[in-house]
Amino acid sequence: MKKVVKFGGSSLASAEQFEKVGAIIRADENRRYVVPSAPGRRFSKDIKVTDMLYRCYATAEAERDFTKDLQSIRSRYDEIIQGLGLNLNLDGEFATIEENFRNKIGSDYAASRGEYLNGIVMANYLGYEFLDAAEVIFFAEDGTFDSEKTNDVLGARLKEMKHAVIPGFYGSLPDGRVKTFSRGGSDITGSIVARAVHAALYENWTDVPGFLVSDPRIVENPEIISTITYKELRELAYMGASVLHEDAIFPVRKAGIPINIRNTNAPEEPGTMIVSTTCAKSPYTVTGIAGKKGFVAVNIEKDLMNSEVGFVKRVLEAFEMYGISIEHVPSGIDTMSVFVEQDQFEKKEQQVLSAINRLVKPDIITLSTDLALIAVVGRSMKNARGTAGRVFASLAHARINVRMIDQGSDEENIIIGVKNDDFENAIRAIYAIFVDAQL
Ligand code: ASP
Repeated sequence: MKKVVKFGGSSLASAEQFEKVGAIIRADENRRYVVPSAPGRRFSKDIKVTDMLYRCYATAEAERDFTKDLQSIRSRYDEIIQGLGLNLNLDGEFATIEENFRNKIGSDYAASRGEYLNGIVMANYLGYEFLDAAEVIFFAEDGTFDSEKTNDVLGARLKEMKHAVIPGFYGSLPDGRVKTFSRGGSDITGSIVARAVHAALYENWTDVPGFLVSDPRIVENPEIISTITYKELRELAYMGASVLHEDAIFPVRKAGIPINIRNTNAPEEPGTMIVSTTCAKSPYTVTGIAGKKGFVAVNIEKDLMNSEVGFVKRVLEAFEMYGISIEHVPSGIDTMSVFVEQDQFEKKEQQVLSAINRLVKPDIITLSTDLALIAVVGRSMKNARGTAGRVFASLAHARINVRMIDQGSDEENIIIGVKNDDFENAIRAIYAIFVDAQL
């Protein structure tokens, strides 16, 4: 059995953290492929190595002296190397990096050195082989990730390696230049490696206990989700949950490999399992409650709207014309509303409204502003009687006016629109009725 283990920046911020990671890897011989991030924060005011690299490179690009900044980055690694008592010297690596910075090689290359160097340190510490991600993770000319070429080449290379460290976050373009994923992208690399080696499990080690039923900034001490499906996670991630990079689920989901979110600082805890499908019911009927503020509803009314062929299409076209993405479209017989992000909409407001007027000649258009959307998500909801009743009873009880209701066709989510000002209270009320009432 093969497991791929990815460690986040805070898990690798110091020699002490490296030692915890070493103990985790040695505790299970299946943990054969390791994907490290760059060293993260050691304390709350600390700076991540990735951010130091971006800054240092900006200085180099402006042709100012960047050697001191590079030296501070170097000392982050030297501190780890010394703390672990490794026989490793990064002189050559730093000389190359300095020269490449002087030649203005690009900020993606600069940022990627955080993972690259940490991979070298990690491989040395574990006695594993080092495989540079630039040799095995590929982007196409237009900058999109080339999943199939990567899967073939990476799969073939790792077949020959019993143990390997593959740095996260970057790969290379067809001309050999380094390119990174977006921030937090080591999660994606872990997922790509898991698919390539046909892993039984992708463990993603971080500094939180797992996914939480709700946002801890809103609900005090929320429960941990023990099992969540990919589909549920998508519904919640989309609404703003942020433990795992959104794009990290696609490679493993395709291959049917589960992800286990674990806490490096509490390795005995089971964390959260992300799976394709499961018999395990969510203990609270709902799996998670998440949401986002800052939406506006564009309400359109027209007599006999429902019998006018192509009406909805033309309304949506008006938004498409101005590049505005649509969140939800609840509708009635002669009314429909289009929910969009207020910030985005405000900039193009009059153009969109006049396009709607032109395209469908509505009777009335009104705007409901400053709305928040809340997603109540759960695979167990469709088989539980009274779920919607409980959601709305809890909101009525908290004196919250519901402005919109939308249920996904798979009955795994209910989306509720409330005023921005009611957002936190609404989430607390729903949490209380499903989770607190159950405990
Ligand atoms: N080091 C990169 C970042 O800070 C990538 C990662 O940690 O996943 O975004």
